Amino acid sequence: MTERRAELAGNLARVEERIAAACAAAGRRREDVTLIVVTKTYPASDVRLLHELGVRQVAENRDQDAAPKAAACADLDLTWHFVGQLQTNKVRSVAGYAQFVQSVDRLKLVGALSTAAVRAGRELGLLLQVALDAEAAGRGERGGVGPDGVAELADAVAAAPGLRLGGLMTVAPLAGPYAGRQRAAFDRLVEISARLRLDHPAATMVSAGMSADLEDAVAAGATHVRIGTAVLGVRPRLG
Ligand SMILES: *Cc1c(COP(=O)(O)O)cnc(C)c1O
Repeated sequence: MTERRAELAGNLARVEERIAAACAAAGRRREDVTLIVVTKTYPASDVRLLHELGVRQVAENRDQDAAPKAAACADLDLTWHFVGQLQTNKVRSVAGYAQFVQSVDRLKLVGALSTAAVRAGRELGLLLQVALDAEAAGRGERGGVGPDGVAELADAVAAAPGLRLGGLMTVAPLAGPYAGRQRAAFDRLVEISARLRLDHPAATMVSAGMSADLEDAVAAGATHVRIGTAVLGVRPRLG
């Protein structure tokens, strides 16, 4: 366990260095970028070690893994982000431990999250997942709403009890006009965010960038980066 702690500490330090360098290169303050560590497929013991090492924001993408892990870490002051594709039958469970759901991409999910948040007596922060491979208002390959569907979804979140509109999230697309062009993709997300904030000024979160492309995301203006592999190692199975 101490070996794992040392490994995580070293990885975290390297990621921290990358974020700090990216902020410096972009003329941004380090505190304007929040590191979220994506702990999917890794055990609660790793989450505990990360907490000891100062991590306070963690993310998961499957409720069946996340729910027991969050329960096992309920004594820690952690903020849990849900970042995976979400079925409405999992919403009630997710609303029990997550402070943020970053993968909101359809009206039906907004309604279900609102009902669950109210029932749980909690306020949930929601980010709309934008699919940059789906022009217009269609759905993307990896989930997400097309850029033209953002305004309607945002208005629905803002009007729903128990929900707060936090901002936007994206995953760099594997196909379409932005495939292999992370910087351009994140620039586009930031543009969509600027448009969104005209109507929803508090929706300031821009969640973009993973292990391979966090520099592009910080350069584009991301406020939150979601880092898995670079902190925890290559995942043993697809997550
Ligand atoms: C797994 C995952 C990440 C982290 O990806 P890494 O490449 O391991 O850093 C970020 N965002 C989402 C939505 C993910 O599912």
